[in-house]
Amino acid sequence: MGIEETVKALQAIGINELYLGEKMEQKEDRWKLLRELYEQWKDCKRCDLHKSRTQVVPGDGNPYSPIVFVGEAPGEEEDKQGKPFVGRAGQLLNKLIEEELGMKREDVYITNVCKCRPPNNRKPTPIEMKACSPYLRKEIEIIKPKIICCLGATAGEGVLGKSLKITKVRGQVFPYPYDPKIKVFLTYHPAYVLRNPKEEKTLREDFRKLRELLSQLS
Ligand code: SF4
Repeated sequence: MGIEETVKALQAIGINELYLGEKMEQKEDRWKLLRELYEQWKDCKRCDLHKSRTQVVPGDGNPYSPIVFVGEAPGEEEDKQGKPFVGRAGQLLNKLIEEELGMKREDVYITNVCKCRPPNNRKPTPIEMKACSPYLRKEIEIIKPKIICCLGATAGEGVLGKSLKITKVRGQVFPYPYDPKIKVFLTYHPAYVLRNPKEEKTLREDFRKLRELLSQLS
């Protein structure tokens, strides 16, 4: 029996636990809204990235998470599996979520600025990021996180709408332009750290700051 049917059945026998009912409906709503959003975009051809993709890769994880991680675009493995951050960079991200935030991957929500894989894993162009931006904006509107953590400069540019130097702004917090109550935190992309292992220490420091920020906002 689905949630709605369960609520109706309880109401039919006089149990009107409205608070619980509302919470259950809310839970169902965000999943449903994200599914509907994906349905609207799964055949999208708004930019040239549709030519090189296997499939549109939607966000993944808990839509009730206080934190949303944003990368730049799917890579080869993500394009094959239809899930964001499932390759080596994703494994490092999962490890940091567990070890530094004390959370599990399934507790958080993970997505990308562009939902289709760029050829040869190149950086998405400003035109491609702009074309895909309504998808990310809608995801954020549905999830209403406390924090958006941008992984790398491209993700930061996609979320904040301006170019930036990640070495200068990493570890810093900015207001989300479409809802200033939401904090935007910037750090390195895990793929960059895989190429530069000595930077793992910095990424870990940023994740500790992120944990602190999360506890202040909870
Ligand atoms: S990257 Fe975004 S805008 Fe471009 S084709 Fe894919 S879903 Fe559409």
